[in-house]
Amino acid sequence: MASEMKKVDVVIVGFGWAGAIMAKELTEAGLNVLALERGPHRDTYPDGSYPQSIDELTYNIRKKLFQDLSKSTVTIRHNASQTAVPYRQLAAFLPGTGTGGAGLHWSGVHFRVDPTELRMRSHYEERYGKKFIPEGMTIQDFGVTYDELEPFFDKAEKVFGTSGSAWSINGKIVGKAQGGNPFAPDRSDKFPLPAQKRTYSAQLFAQAAESVGYHPYDLPSANTSGPYTNTYGAQMGPCNFCGYCSGYACYMYSKASPNVNILPALRQEPKFELRNNAYVLRVNLTDDKKRATGVTYVDAQGREVEQPADLVILSAFQFHNVHLMLLSGIGKPYNPITNEGTVGRNFAYQNISTLKALFDKNTTTNPFIGAGGAGVGVDDFNADNFDHGPHGFVGGSPFWVNQAGTKPISGLPTPTGTPNWGASGKRPSPILIRTMCLWMLTARISLIVLTIWISIPTTKMHMANRCCG
Ligand SMILES: Cc1cc2nc3c(=O)[nH]c(=O)nc-3n(C[C@H](O)[C@H](O)[C@H](O)COP(=O)(O)OP(=O)(O)OC[C@H]3O[C@@H](n4cnc5c(N)ncnc54)[C@H](O)[C@@H]3O)c2cc1C
Ligand code: SF4
Repeated sequence: MASEMKKVDVVIVGFGWAGAIMAKELTEAGLNVLALERGPHRDTYPDGSYPQSIDELTYNIRKKLFQDLSKSTVTIRHNASQTAVPYRQLAAFLPGTGTGGAGLHWSGVHFRVDPTELRMRSHYEERYGKKFIPEGMTIQDFGVTYDELEPFFDKAEKVFGTSGSAWSINGKIVGKAQGGNPFAPDRSDKFPLPAQKRTYSAQLFAQAAESVGYHPYDLPSANTSGPYTNTYGAQMGPCNFCGYCSGYACYMYSKASPNVNILPALRQEPKFELRNNAYVLRVNLTDDKKRATGVTYVDAQGREVEQPADLVILSAFQFHNVHLMLLSGIGKPYNPITNEGTVGRNFAYQNISTLKALFDKNTTTNPFIGAGGAGVGVDDFNADNFDHGPHGFVGGSPFWVNQAGTKPISGLPTPTGTPNWGASGKRPSPILIRTMCLWMLTARISLIVLTIWISIPTTKMHMANRCCG
């Protein structure tokens, strides 16, 4: 039988960005808040302490900071006719676990949403006519506007210590000379920190984009361009472009995370408690299922515990929230065949395409230097910044050079079919063997091939859908 804990005002399920922000706001409002996090406690020490923090085997290959799929996973299918099967190997899809959630190991690209994306259906119908969006397509408006959200974007950037170049503040253009984005919506204030320095690859990209008439801008990044103390008194050091943002905890206190930017303030708050290794199984409801009364979780010893609360906040990330709601009997499940129901509807994960560019052998981009959010982007093909009329699709994407820092081993480019890690990576692939044969055949060809392999720059030219990797 489950043991019952003392009632709290609020229980928060999951302690990533969403959970930490809610915990701070609600304790400020005077409520007693308990955050339940399924993963272990993590922080800059020990997870971000140098030099262990840049251990590729632990973090990049064994993926220490991500969800352990041997304990729990999700099932995936590509269309409704397939049987969903468990996801067993982490790849692009990297759910977080532990204090800070994905916010501890994210990259730091820190965009605001484009105003048109918040009212996508209305906007496209107004500009292109009612028939533009095909019947049955589930696009809808979010129900909040950019103007309503703007003060919160501003507040969040001041908590995160975001670096960037503004274009327009309170209707006044300020960013023409300094890397602002002419497609960015109006802001009520500048970024708390100036944009990060441009890497050489970003400079090349900006020059190229400008020369063909596009509008390059500094990517807003939650990696600091200088020392910063945020609105909660949390201190950040200047980013040193070490290149270990994505998948790692930052040892310089330079990448915004719930752990660095919010937890220090919450620790001083007697109304707040964080309980780790507490895996929430369901939200408990009143008999009429109209009100939450708390949650049931399993603790580190495997015991079932009931935690009563007046308010339950699900901040366990989208699909975990949906999972918990379905297990708890909350709401109507989304049915992709009939298009009915809201729980689980319109879920989307980030899509990114990466291109690698070849440069002359004398162009050295030093790809090991970088930061998760630093770079230069172009929004000419993003959102509704171009005429979609003839194209028959909605939306778009920024594209950017974000030199995030290639790692010494896994970042090494290898021929198709040759993994960049492990025993099989040491065996030459058929392609490599063919290449070597060619080398032996003609010294001239071999010189060219060698030049290409050695000088393959790992500069990343992301074509991204609002996010990064
Ligand atoms: C490698 C990587 C790089 C990224 N880079 C960027 C970027 O540059 N810019 C950007 O905007 N976004 C980026 N993202 C995405 C971004 O980090 C996430 O969208 C964001 O951190 C999600 O925050 P969250 O609080 O909603 O969820 P999470 O951070 O996932 O937090 C949810 C927490 O809930 C916990 N939890 C789940 N289920 C339960 C349960 N049943 N009981 C108790 N606890 C539970 C989890 O352990 C987790 O800690 C990146 C993501 C990854 C993985
Ligand atoms: S690149 Fe900067 S923000 Fe990223 S881990 Fe290194 S010091 Fe931290």
